[in-house]
This record gives sequence, structure tokens and C-alpha cells, in this order.
Amino acid sequence: MRKVVIAGNWKMHKTQAESLAFLQGLMPQLEAVPEQREVVLCVPFTALSLLSEKLHGSRVKIGAQNVHWDESGAYTGEIASGMLTELGVRYVIVGHSERRQYFGETDETANRRLKAAQAAGLTPILCVGETKQQRDAGETDAWITGQIKAGLTGIDQSNLVIAYEPIWAIGSGDTCEPEDANRVISLIRSQLSQADVPIQYGGSVKPANIDDIMAQPEIDGVLVGGASLEPDSFARLIHYQ
Ligand code: PGA
Repeated sequence: MRKVVIAGNWKMHKTQAESLAFLQGLMPQLEAVPEQREVVLCVPFTALSLLSEKLHGSRVKIGAQNVHWDESGAYTGEIASGMLTELGVRYVIVGHSERRQYFGETDETANRRLKAAQAAGLTPILCVGETKQQRDAGETDAWITGQIKAGLTGIDQSNLVIAYEPIWAIGSGDTCEPEDANRVISLIRSQLSQADVPIQYGGSVKPANIDDIMAQPEIDGVLVGGASLEPDSFARLIHYQ
């Protein structure tokens, strides 16, 4: 059976003080989360140490939002895998569309980051997704197929999560129809050599649509931005029906 991974992506939100306030709201709601659900919070670098300590032994694992491919070196503003694992970080988002759009990330750099993450024992969450323009032009399947092929070259699929995040659905309130996300995710799965890779959907996931999304047979979890920032909302996502 494939693992379900419910992951929050805080992006560039929350100071340490705000992170602590979030935890106070979330902790009492972590009771009775079904065993086979993995809960992850991918937080800013500055909150990793604090949250890792506070959530130690809880159901929530900590993730980062980027990792460099070298173990150290002259890469101003980047972070190395060993710096993350030292803090108890278990997951890392790789190739998010915001990294691709604003910071020149490509399938090739994502691939290098994936390898570094896995070599350090981190579980990478590789993000793929098409633009609105590509979708309207009927190019979704070819684009996603290409991203998966290039991103996963030489990658160990036994320690990997993939997130299908249509770019037009991110932060827009415009969710992809669950059946449609299910179809693209099944296309991604058909390209994998291992059957048990969890594949998430991401893009305007919220309490109002989580149950419909998770009811789809191919969708093994969600990667959530906006709705992961508030404890009650994130708790509702973890406890989907
Ligand atoms: P959103 O972001 O849930 O705010 O749409 C998702 C993401 O970017 O991972």
C-alpha cells in the first residue's frame, strides 16, 4: 500500500514567534491521526531548528523548501543537505514552480538537488506542473512527461515523493478538478519503475476540497501552501475523511 503524505509548504511565511503560536494551536489536534498518514511541515530555514525540537516525537516531520547539490562551497544564499539533517529535517521540497519561475530552477538543477537530498537520507518532494497556457494548448501530458523524465534521471524511486502542482492552481483559489488531477497523476505513475511512490496533488487545497481530492484513487496526499498556515485549517486537512 502506498503511503499518504500530507505536507504543508509555508513558503516565506512565519517568524519563530509565529511558528510557536501555530504549534500551540496544532498540537492538541494531532491526536488520532491515522497511522498510515505521514504529516510534514516544510518551513523556512529559520524555523527548522525550533520546530524540529518542539515536534520531536510527534506525528509531524519537518521539511525544508530547498537544498543545494554540493555538500559545501561558495554558493551564497544556498543550504547544504548536511545542514538540514543536522537539525532533524526529514523532507525537502525540490523544484517548486516558484523556484523555477523566480530563481532559474530547471529540471536539471532539480535533478541534482534530488540526488543530493537522497544521498543525505532526506526524502525529496519533486514538484512538477504545467502553466495555464500549456494546459489550454493541450500540452499538459507532454510537458509533465518531460519534467518527470528529466527530473528523475538516475534517481532512487524508493525514497521519493512527487507533487503534481498545476501552476495555474497554486495560490489562485482555482483548484484542478479532482478527476483531472487524478488522471495526470496516473500518467505520472505510468512513467515510474516503482509502484509505491506517493504522488501528491498541490494547488489551492483547502478544508472545503480535501475530502474530494483524497477520495481519488491515484492521489496519495497533498502539498498545501495557504491552507497550511493556520492550525485549525491544517488540522482539518490532516484529518480528511
Ligand atoms: P497553495 O500552494 O496551496 O497556496 O495553492 C501550493 C504550493 O505552492 O505548494
